[in-house]
Amino acid sequence: LEQHEIALKVLINDLKDYRGAEIFCLQAGRVIGIRKGAPKKRASKKIDEKSLITKRRTLFLTLLKVYLEMDNRDEMVDIIIHLLNTQAVYLDIMEVLSLLPEYWSIEMLNNFLVRSLRQSYHNYREGQILKGLCRGENLMIKYELSQAYQDIGPIIITQNVVCASCKKHISGAEFMRQPNNDIIHVQCDFDKSNRDNSLEIVDSTTTTPSTSNIEESKAIPL
Ligand SMILES: [Zn+2]
Repeated sequence: LEQHEIALKVLINDLKDYRGAEIFCLQAGRVIGIRKGAPKKRASKKIDEKSLITKRRTLFLTLLKVYLEMDNRDEMVDIIIHLLNTQAVYLDIMEVLSLLPEYWSIEMLNNFLVRSLRQSYHNYREGQILKGLCRGENLMIKYELSQAYQDIGPIIITQNVVCASCKKHISGAEFMRQPNNDIIHVQCDFDKSNRDNSLEIVDSTTTTPSTSNIEESKAIPL
């Protein structure tokens, strides 16, 4: 990123190419059309949208800082305001306001502030809608869950109920019902599934050579 800052400084301070600097930020620091391999690069341009936008944000903020560090920054007001107005989407209103000189008037920033606030408000509304949708989905799943609990009915643990695995009594709340209605300790179920998994591995390794042995033994008499 430091190189990008240097590039922006060269574009602004030495070349006075303000338009070029904005394009540089929009291209997220990629120089196009200079190298011969450029068209190939454009094909693999599938950098995801999000990282592109984040890059643009940092670059436009860097560009703003470069402008504001200039000795003649007050003569640059029009260009800076133009940058704020056109790229408000990429600039965070609070960050910008903390950078700008205090003596700049609100009227100058009017356009930028309106755009920026509109964008923030839009994002806020979008977030609210998303939140509402998630809340609705949550509610629906909660309903399904309570419905499932009702269908299953309560589990009553009496003195006669023992764990289907270790045959010990169930005490405490750490038990579960299996699909076949067996009651089992949570720990026993965990141990059992671990054993099953290791059995499967042992099975697959032992059965394959034995079957090939059978085939071989069959093959000999033929
Ligand atoms: Zn058990």
